[in-house]
Amino acid sequence: MNAYQTQTQLFKALAHPERLRLLNALRAQEECVCHLTALLRKRQAYVSQQLMALRNAGLIADRKEGLRVYYHIQDPRVLTLLDEVNALTNAQESLEQHVTLAACTCPKCDVRGED
Ligand SMILES: [Zn+2]
Repeated sequence: MNAYQTQTQLFKALAHPERLRLLNALRAQEECVCHLTALLRKRQAYVSQQLMALRNAGLIADRKEGLRVYYHIQDPRVLTLLDEVNALTNAQESLEQHVTLAACTCPKCDVRGED
């Protein structure tokens, strides 16, 4: 592949609303699949499919802890790119910090302290 083709692959990986949302959700810190699933309100198979596309593009990486799989941003430069896209489109998403979700049972959302 030449450089343009390689770059096109990157844009293809990014060119999906839910994948952009996932990347934004991972800005501040890693999140587990269950949390991202609750955040998107989609089936886990669907969310996993989008996460896989981002992982295959080298944008995110996973880390297993017990039965949970956590994803994090692989290279923070992609966030700079997203910032520029936000500015170019005037469609700025709020920079997401961790959002506690009632529908999620991940350790960060489970404020009852059970683990
Ligand atoms: Zn959670």
